[in-house]
Amino acid sequence: VAKSGSAHYLHYTEQMRERLRHQLITETELRQAILDEAFVLHYQPKVAIADGTPIGGEALIRWRHPTRGLIYPMEFIPIAEETGLMVPIGEWALRAACRQIQTWIEAGRQPLQIAVNVSERQFRWGHLPALIDVLLRETGIPPHLLQLEITESVLPEDLEGALRQMAWIADCGVALALDDFGTGYSSLSYLRELPLDCLKVDRKFVQDMEQDSGTRHIVQAIVAMAKAMGLKVVAEGVETEGERSLLRGMGVEEGQGYLFARPLPVKEFELFCGL
Ligand code: C2E
Ligand code: CA
Ligand code: CA
Ligand code: CA
Repeated sequence: VAKSGSAHYLHYTEQMRERLRHQLITETELRQAILDEAFVLHYQPKVAIADGTPIGGEALIRWRHPTRGLIYPMEFIPIAEETGLMVPIGEWALRAACRQIQTWIEAGRQPLQIAVNVSERQFRWGHLPALIDVLLRETGIPPHLLQLEITESVLPEDLEGALRQMAWIADCGVALALDDFGTGYSSLSYLRELPLDCLKVDRKFVQDMEQDSGTRHIVQAIVAMAKAMGLKVVAEGVETEGERSLLRGMGVEEGQGYLFARPLPVKEFELFCGL
């Protein structure tokens, strides 16, 4: 028993050491990636649930790693958050999205609203409103073409500070969406205090809706509440026709998910949207 115990212990520390090593390498490589701007945005269409008409897009960042190819956010955003690198990476994403909108406008295309994810770290930084202001000036884009997606977990950390920044950003005319709605531990009471345009129903609810009537009731309640508050509802992670028709029946107007389109490189996004 003692032997297998110590073998287990050895294995455990080796695993920990390996993970730490991986984190350190990733951090170093991420710092270089920021200097090289080795990132790219893919755009996932948001469509009208009723007929699939494209009505916007969500920008999703990918890391173009020199040897490993495209790396998805799950693999580097947690490390970026821990090391403070999320602020410059988030700034890159915001600027890239604004420039993309500017490019469409300058080419005479009819641009769609693009949503960019903003993490808790970027709010704690304290300069997000100033950055948004700079980007709007730099690119000259109409503010309503930009939307920020904020997760519920952003809020309780420093509610006052986050609220003040959101109010300022909303005053600029930039749209705000609450992401992953229903998964956080936030209370409903301050929902009315947030200057929101839109609630995004979390993918987990959409996923379970067909099989589980309890989940259906939750989605129904979220939709009713959002409508009563004058907010738009977007369902994320729509993968099946069944989910789509349930959502449609509940009066959800916008959807996003593999059923309609995956996150796409910009050229394919333009094709999909007829831009
Ligand atoms: P999120 O904001 O919840 O984004 C939706 C995620 O769900 C994306 O993963 C998207 O590819 C995926 N997805 C979309 N439709 C479906 C579907 O039908 N089924 C399934 N199973 N998945 C679907 P992705 O691109 O890997 O991004 C993961 C997370 O990384 C995002 O979650 C967001 O929190 C974060 N993220 C991505 N880009 C940025 C960024 O530029 N800045 C910040 N701060 N966070 C970002
Ligand atoms: Ca999002
Ligand atoms: Ca989400
Ligand atoms: Ca399902």
